[in-house]
Amino acid sequence: MLLLKMKKLLFPLLVFVPLLISAQTDKRIYDIISAVSTERLETDITKLASFGTRHTLSDTISQDRGIGAARRWIKNEFEKTSESCKGCLEVFYQKDLVRKGENDRIVNDVMVVNVVAVQRGTKYPNRYIIMSGDIDSRVSDPNNYTSDSPGANDNASGMAGTLEAARVLSKYKFENSIIYVGLSGEEQGLFGGKGLAAHAKENGWEIIGILNNDMIGNIAGVDGVINNREFRIFSEPVPPTETKEQRNARRFYGGEVDGISRQLARYVYTTTKTYMPEMNPKMIYRLDRFGRGGHHRPFNDAGYAGIRIMEAHENYTQQHQDIRIENGTSYGDIVEHVNFEYAGKLTAVNAINLASIAWAPPSPKEVKIGGIVEPSARLLWSKVDGAVGYKIYWRDTTAPNWEHSRDIGDVTEFTLEGIVIDNYLFGVSSISKDGFESPIVFPNSILR
Ligand SMILES: [Zn+2]
Repeated sequence: MLLLKMKKLLFPLLVFVPLLISAQTDKRIYDIISAVSTERLETDITKLASFGTRHTLSDTISQDRGIGAARRWIKNEFEKTSESCKGCLEVFYQKDLVRKGENDRIVNDVMVVNVVAVQRGTKYPNRYIIMSGDIDSRVSDPNNYTSDSPGANDNASGMAGTLEAARVLSKYKFENSIIYVGLSGEEQGLFGGKGLAAHAKENGWEIIGILNNDMIGNIAGVDGVINNREFRIFSEPVPPTETKEQRNARRFYGGEVDGISRQLARYVYTTTKTYMPEMNPKMIYRLDRFGRGGHHRPFNDAGYAGIRIMEAHENYTQQHQDIRIENGTSYGDIVEHVNFEYAGKLTAVNAINLASIAWAPPSPKEVKIGGIVEPSARLLWSKVDGAVGYKIYWRDTTAPNWEHSRDIGDVTEFTLEGIVIDNYLFGVSSISKDGFESPIVFPNSILR
């Protein structure tokens, strides 16, 4: 009798379990992961390395050597991808003239040319999530623009990953626009990123964020560690564009480690852990490596969210080096050192995050929080067109990632009973009907 009752009870549970699972994962994301081709990455990295040098100031006339030939090849690859999806990519050069003497790495006037491919969103055509790699390369002397500089890992790997993500994602339609871009002038002073960020501002682009890929193909580190599972996500704590008032408010309400780039980093971390549990993302709480730079920074400078995705274990004998053998060590950034399977994994990390964000509604613009001297925390946020529900997150003040969450349906305010505001940090995201989630918004206003 008791057993019978249990069976009756179990039945509805069994029906509900698959539904619950499908609300949290989407089969298309797994398809995207398996569609990334290691072979195509190998072909593209080898091709990019074959241009001899892709130095920003190198030859632009030759058909097979220098940055001109390289960017024409990249543009042609985007155009081929576009042809196979009935013209779904808008491909163009975005360029800016940089004058000689702008810094000591610009020894001639040079046109810094980015190659941009836009996959236009069906619902929010002017909202963009961006994936970038770099076109340019360098050897030991940053101003040597003639010597062989294959830049296989730095950064043909990121560039090839960007081309491959475009091929894979062009098979789908998204509500938000996706930009795939090859940026130039990185090694000379982040000029390509600066140019595109300014272009975005001038044209009123609403940028959700940029996933900048710089070196995604090395698994054998100079530290002796060989690891093909781990990778790093760099993000700055708060935007450099914040006002004095915003900085001052943080002293009283918190948020030192909760800027927009950090939320994007957490998003990538969580999506990866959900769909690619074999990978081990490492959140690095800093803008970039110690004293070094990358192309997400100019976007951060302009007030946009941006992170750097890269290998966990670098090898400095293979970065920015003249190709040579010295004391038995092979110096130089050559194709032989690149691990294509690993580059494929990190390309998939990008692709699933681009897709998840491009399928998600916008984040709530305004999120208010209150609960001073109360036994509960209250949140109130602006309604998002296209969201079918919202999720509230909270975590210990010392926790790096969100720990607790609650689906609260299609409402624009909620009180978390029994949760004392002083002891946690909070955030709100919006959810699409397929379960895709926007990046989380940290409260930006106080409820009294
Ligand atoms: Zn570099």
